[in-house]
Amino acid sequence: MGLELTGRARYLPLFMCGIVAYIGKKEAQPLLLDGLRRLEYRGYDSSGLAILNGSLHVSKKVGRISNLEECLSGAPLSGTIGISHTRWATHGEPNDTNAHPHLDNRKKLALVHNGVVENYQALKRKLVAAGHTFESETDTEILAHLVGSMYDSLPASTPHRLETALKLALKQVQGTYGVAVVHADEPDVLVGARRGSPLVLGIGQDEHFLASDVSAIVAHTQKVVYLKDFDLITLTGNSFTIKSITDKPSEFQISEVDYRTEDAELGSFPHFMLKEIFEQPTSIQNAVRGRLNAEEASAVLGGLNMSPQELREVERIVITACGTALHAGIVGEHIIESLAHIPVEIDFASEFRYRNCPMDRRTLVIVVSQSGETADTLGALREARRRGYRVLGICNNVGSTIARETDGGVYMHAGPEIGVAATKSFTSQVTIFALLGLLLGRMRFLSFTQGSEFIKGLEALPDQITKLLKQADKIRAIADKYKSVKSMLYFGRNVQYGVAMEGALKMKEISYIHAEGYPAAELKHGVIAMIDHHTPSIFIVPNDSLRNKNISTMQEVKARKGPIIAIATEGDEDVAAIADDTIFVPAAHECLLPILAVVPLQLFSYYTAVLLNRDVDKPRNLAKSVTVE
Ligand code: GLU
Repeated sequence: MGLELTGRARYLPLFMCGIVAYIGKKEAQPLLLDGLRRLEYRGYDSSGLAILNGSLHVSKKVGRISNLEECLSGAPLSGTIGISHTRWATHGEPNDTNAHPHLDNRKKLALVHNGVVENYQALKRKLVAAGHTFESETDTEILAHLVGSMYDSLPASTPHRLETALKLALKQVQGTYGVAVVHADEPDVLVGARRGSPLVLGIGQDEHFLASDVSAIVAHTQKVVYLKDFDLITLTGNSFTIKSITDKPSEFQISEVDYRTEDAELGSFPHFMLKEIFEQPTSIQNAVRGRLNAEEASAVLGGLNMSPQELREVERIVITACGTALHAGIVGEHIIESLAHIPVEIDFASEFRYRNCPMDRRTLVIVVSQSGETADTLGALREARRRGYRVLGICNNVGSTIARETDGGVYMHAGPEIGVAATKSFTSQVTIFALLGLLLGRMRFLSFTQGSEFIKGLEALPDQITKLLKQADKIRAIADKYKSVKSMLYFGRNVQYGVAMEGALKMKEISYIHAEGYPAAELKHGVIAMIDHHTPSIFIVPNDSLRNKNISTMQEVKARKGPIIAIATEGDEDVAAIADDTIFVPAAHECLLPILAVVPLQLFSYYTAVLLNRDVDKPRNLAKSVTVE
C-alpha cells in the first residue's frame, strides 16, 4: 500500500473488460484464448483476437469466449504475435461488429481497448471529414482509426513509428484506456498504454505478455511490471521499453507475483462462487495470520504506516466503498465504534467524492475495494487525498491502483476472487475491520482481558466456519423451498444490518430475485406493507444484545403471515419456534458474528440461483471489479 503515488487528483473512470496480448516464439492463439478465459469474469459481452502473420487475421464473436473458441476451432489462426479482448460494452450493443479488436481505415492496424474515449464524437467528425468510414458503433474503432492515421502520416523512417503514432493519438484522447496495438507493417512489435485502466506486463523467456490482470499471464511468468497511468510500452520478443505519454521519464519496478494458478481454477467445485465460499476458513486465517499479538492483546498492522501517536490522534473515521465492500464497511463502522469508541461514518464512494463532506483534520479515511481498481472508490480516494486527508486502503490485489495510491493499509491476502458475486472478500474485509477495531480499541478503552477474549474469538473463526459449511445441504433444501418467490426481505440490527444488506445483494445479483436489506426496526416504518405469505423475511437474529428486539419484529412479521427464515445462535430454540426455517450459527463475540452470519446467506443465494439455473459466476449485466462510474 502506498508504494507510489501518481499525484493526480482528477478522477479517471475505469472500465471493465479484459485485454491479453502476446509476442514471442510460441503460437499466440492458444495463449490468448487461455488468458481470455481467465479474464472472462471481467466482461462477457463478446470476445475477439487478432494475430499478425504477414497480414492481420481477426476473429471476433458476440457472447462467451466459448463462442469464439468454437469459431476458431475449425480454422485456427497461426502466428506468434497477437492481441485479444473480452468486452463489457459501453458504446454499442454486444454484437460481432462491435466486438474488439477494431481495425484502422486501411485494415493494417488492430487495437483492443479497455475504457471509454469520451471525445470520440469530435474525433470521429474529423476522421469522417478526412474520408474514414466506420463499421461499428464503438468509441474504440475511432481510436483505432486515429492511431492508424497518425501512423500513416509519419515518414516510414520514423524511429519507433507505431509507438510514436500511439502516443500522438492518445494525446488527443479524453477519457480512459488500456490499449494494445499491432500493425501489419511492424510484424515484430506490440505497443500498449494505459490511463485509468489496469495493464500489467509479463516478462518471460524470449516472450512478453500484456494483460489487464495478472491472472491471465501468471501461468507463463511470475515476473511482472504493473504499469502506471500514462505509461507507453513497446514490446518485442526479447525487449521492452516503458516511456510516458507525457514525455516525462517513467520509472518502473519489476515484481514477483505471489499467485498460484490453481487458486484461480475451479478444482472440484461447480462454480467459483461455491469454491470461494468454502475457502473462507483459509482466507480468514490468511487475513489474521501474523497480525495478532497475544502478549499485548492487540493487533499488529504495520502496513498502516502510522505511528501509535498518529493512530491515537484519530478522532473520526470515514469509511467509503461500493457494493459488498460498502456492506463490509457498514459492519466495520459498528465494530470500530463499539471496540474503539471512535465515531465512524460510512459513505458510498460515489457520493463521498461529490458531496463535499466536511471533515475535521483528525479524520482518517478508509477505502475498501477487493480489486483495488473500483472506479468510484478510486475517485473517493483521490478526492480525500486532494483535500489532504490520510487515506488507508483495504484491498486484495497487490499492486492495484488503490493499493498504490493510499498512504497505507491492510492487504486481505484472500487469493483471487473470480466469482462475480463477492463472498470471501466480504468476510476478509470484516475480519480486517475487526483487527483495526482491536488495535484502535486497545489504544483507548478496551482492556487487556477484553482484547485477549477478542483474539480468541478471531482465532476460532476458521473452525467455526468449517463447521457452518457442513450445513450446505440443509441450506440448499431451504433454497429449494423459497426459490420461486418474487421478493425477499432481509433484516438485521446494528452490526448485523450490513449483513442483511449483503445477504440481499447476493440474492439480487445471482438469482435476480428482488431482495432488500433493512435495519430490523425499520419494518414498521413502511416495509411492513410488503409482508404477505409469499414474501419471506430473513432475520439475522443471533444471541446478541438485540435478540429480544429482533424476536418482537419477527412476531410482527409472523402476525401478518410472512414466512421467516432465521439465522440464529446454536441452541436458540425460542427463535426456531417462531421461524419457519432456522439456520444455526456458532456463538461468538458480537462484533465477529457478522463473519459467521453471512456464510449461510451466501449459500442460500448460491443454491437459489443454481436451482433457478442462473449463470452463478457470470450473472447478467454484471462484471467483476465494477470499474465504471
Ligand atoms: N468502450 C469500449 C466498448 O464499448 C470498450 C469497453 C470495454 O472496456 O470493454 O467497446
